[in-house]
Amino acid sequence: MSDKTETRTTYCSHCTKEVQVTVSPGTPRSGQANLKESDDFVCLDFGDKCDGDICPLSQYRPVVMGVRLARSGLKEDWTTVRAQCEGCGQITDLKVLDAEHAFCSLCGTTNTWMVLEFDDNGKVAVTGRK
Ligand SMILES: [Zn+2]
Repeated sequence: MSDKTETRTTYCSHCTKEVQVTVSPGTPRSGQANLKESDDFVCLDFGDKCDGDICPLSQYRPVVMGVRLARSGLKEDWTTVRAQCEGCGQITDLKVLDAEHAFCSLCGTTNTWMVLEFDDNGKVAVTGRK
């Protein structure tokens, strides 16, 4: 993470609350509209509530913002699921982005994942690639 990244507060109409976002230093200050055009825009409040079709701040699907946040390293307290990454083959703690996607911080692959439940001994997370 660059220490030049600015953190700002903006209103998210989907989460109906103020959220923390980071933008690159070059982003003009003249309002929220510019955030939509910034490739470096990352929402720090991405989470379970980001379940809509489109993130109103970025105009991307929420999972895209989740991947950005995971890549940025700005969030520490991810829910993780231990599974084998489809990208690198390592068994690791994947960061859960939403009910279907999990991010491998070793190789940067976004896995799809689901939990298989067994009658006798619990459950196991399995991954796939879209
Ligand atoms: Zn991986």
